[in-house]
Amino acid sequence: MKCKEVNKKLVSYINDELSNTENKNVKSHLESCAICNEIAVELQNTMNLFDDRITLQPNPFLYTRILQELNNLHTVQDNNGFLPVFKKVLLPVMFSLLLIFSVFLGITLGNIYETNQQEKETSSLTIEYFFNDLEQETVEVSLLNE
Ligand SMILES: [Zn+2]
Repeated sequence: MKCKEVNKKLVSYINDELSNTENKNVKSHLESCAICNEIAVELQNTMNLFDDRITLQPNPFLYTRILQELNNLHTVQDNNGFLPVFKKVLLPVMFSLLLIFSVFLGITLGNIYETNQQEKETSSLTIEYFFNDLEQETVEVSLLNE
């Protein structure tokens, strides 16, 4: 087989459209002829590209993806609109709330500590009174005994 003949039949050969004998002839020529083999490989690559384009089908999720991207853009814009408000208003409010809470916490803790102290004082007073009473009693008892 001559190179010209092979080149004419290369497309058919790659598409598997040749008869068995023609296919064998082209194949044997390609194995022996480096130039035709190179052409065949390039042609094959080009055909693969076309095949890829043909098999490239629209992604069913493309529409939803685009919608999602658009939504993301919207949310980003919303965030950009929200952030200055957050920085200007919400952060000071949160800080003042935290300050108020800490002051309140300090006051309540101080009150609890104070009441505990008072309770301790009163309890010690009662104990002292109780002891004093006992002492008085003992004094009375001792006096009576005398
Ligand atoms: Zn050749």
